[in-house]
Amino acid sequence: MSLSIRDLRVEVEGREILRGLSLDVPAGEVHAVMGPNGSGKSTLSHVLMGRPGYVVTGGSVNLDGVELLGRPTWERAQAGLFLAMQYPIEVPGVSIVATLREAFAARGVELSDSELAARLDTEADEIGFDRRFADRAMNVDLSGGERKRNETMQLAVLRPRYAVLDELDSGLDVDALRLVSARIARAVVEWGMGVLAITHYQRLFTELAPTRVHVLAGGTIVDEGGPELAEELERSGYAAYAAAAAPPTAVSVRRAGAVPGSSGIDDLLGL
Ligand code: ADP
Ligand code: MG
Repeated sequence: MSLSIRDLRVEVEGREILRGLSLDVPAGEVHAVMGPNGSGKSTLSHVLMGRPGYVVTGGSVNLDGVELLGRPTWERAQAGLFLAMQYPIEVPGVSIVATLREAFAARGVELSDSELAARLDTEADEIGFDRRFADRAMNVDLSGGERKRNETMQLAVLRPRYAVLDELDSGLDVDALRLVSARIARAVVEWGMGVLAITHYQRLFTELAPTRVHVLAGGTIVDEGGPELAEELERSGYAAYAAAAAPPTAVSVRRAGAVPGSSGIDDLLGL
């Protein structure tokens, strides 16, 4: 039982962003992916969930024996994959509770409105998410931190087999971070959820101990280690991987030694 990524190659707008990435997340384990800005971390999360615009040119992604690549996003979710997005989007007109109700229906799970409401109450309360938001439009007018709590609450209610967390820690204050990461850690124990936790910072791992830490630079895994590697990266940064972290250039004119880039989206969104 694992989420198994093999030799994944992905192009965006003619540039190769992921260049042969392999990673295994066994059920019940927490795997961290850390890496500098622009190394392809969010690209990985989008490709796993099937976001359009990302062209897979090679490799495979297998969830407990089911090949995910080529399937629509809803089928990947149905197979047991969940993505907590780095920048959760607003969906005007669609409430959180309606989204969760439809997600259960798509899975063929019978859940009464009162059962769903009870689960939602419990999970919202546990991570300090305002329960009233659940009846309002998804993420509309919510702060960055509230959106991250919302992602976590949806995860806890839906109980996926594998969760990809794309910088779940960004935008959360210390107290919220503790609640959210403790909830994720409990999910690992409760139903054996596998976690692929993408982050820059060790702080996510105070409550959520990683089994393994993988360093992503320049679109591929360049280093791996135990939890101590996360602490080391926090201290020393990614300079040691600078050569590998050269930004992916046009596929036709690839060159080595360029300066690492940043998406800059963090600043725009104020997260
Ligand atoms: P990270 O999450 O590690 O900071 P990303 O995966 O967001 O990095 O981005 C990796 C590279 O791919 C960056 O150079 C980014 O500009 C580019 N990229 C990612 N998504 C897109 C997209 N939809 N369109 C154009 N370029 C993209
Ligand atoms: Mg990112």
